[in-house]
Order: sequence, then C-alpha cells, then structure tokens
Amino acid sequence: MKICEDVYKIPGDSNVYLILRPEPTLIDTSDSADSVYIKSEIEKIIPVEKIKNVMLTHLHYDHAGNVELFPNAKFYADEKEIENYKNSSKDFFFHDISVKTDEILREKLIPLNDEIIGLKVIECPGHTRGSVAFLDEKRKLLFSGDTIFTNGIGRTDFDNSLPEEMRTSVEKLVKEVREGKLTLLSGHDY
Ligand SMILES: [Zn+2]
Repeated sequence: MKICEDVYKIPGDSNVYLILRPEPTLIDTSDSADSVYIKSEIEKIIPVEKIKNVMLTHLHYDHAGNVELFPNAKFYADEKEIENYKNSSKDFFFHDISVKTDEILREKLIPLNDEIIGLKVIECPGHTRGSVAFLDEKRKLLFSGDTIFTNGIGRTDFDNSLPEEMRTSVEKLVKEVREGKLTLLSGHDY
C-alpha cells in the first residue's frame, strides 16, 4: 500500500515500511512466520537484495523477525535495545527465531545516532528500554513503532518494559504529531 511518493506500507504481523529514497530502507521487518508474504510484497516494489538499511523501532520478535531476508543491508537499533538483547534475548520472545536472525541481532546491529538518511531518531523508552520512533520531517511522517497507535499506546508489562517512562514518551510523540501535523505510521493498526 502506497503511503506517499517513495513510501510503502506492508501490513504483516507488524507493519513494515519501505522508503525508497534517498536509499532503499525498511522500518521494521515483521514476524518470521510472515517471511514469505513480507518478501513477496517487498519484491513487488524492489528486490530484497537492494535494501540498504533496516531500521528497527525495537527488537520484539514481531518487528525484528525477518532481518535475515536482506543480505546487503545494514541493521540499526537503539544502543540500549542492543545491549538488552545481548544480555537477555528471551525477553524479546524469540521462541522461534532462526539462528541466522539471532546472529544478526547479536552481532550486526549498529547503534542509531540522532539522524539517519534524513530521518530523525526519537528515543521513547517505555514499551521496551530502547524503543525509538523515526520522524520524516520532509514527508511529515512519524514511524512510532509500538509506543503509540491510532487508538492507544503500547503495552508496558514486559520484562524489558520501562512503564514509568512510557507517559513521557507517549506525550513526546503525540506533541510531534499534533504540532507537525504528521501522519502516524505505527507498528500495528490498532
Ligand atoms: Zn513490541
């Protein structure tokens, strides 16, 4: 589904967003149970080998589960999320994760800085310690992961949640959406 020029949404177990310019980039990858569907939907637009960056809003299995589909990509997540995954990967419920995906998440993740390919990185701890959102100021889009949805907010009852920080994170994103008149592109459609 086309969101706007160069931006597509693929609704899987979690939503996957494909941005074509300035470089073919994905935000989240959905659940490995979705891999055939996700790959075929992306390939209607661009071969998976051409994806240059995969940016993860957080490392729950339903967002980071298909990283192995992209052989030429660099993978990014928040530094705290990467540390947390290395120390306690079971908290991200990777019960059915492949060895290859686990290896990428353990060894290949690059910590995010303030900005990447024109997207501003907004830290929003709460749903997980290292959850982030991505703001595309030019296209007026906010990729909010599991922090805010159209009709609510993400869960904070996981072992790797920080419930006491969720309110501040939610308020920060809501303010961005309202003041910037942004289109909200969340990790799930609820
Ligand atoms: Zn999540």
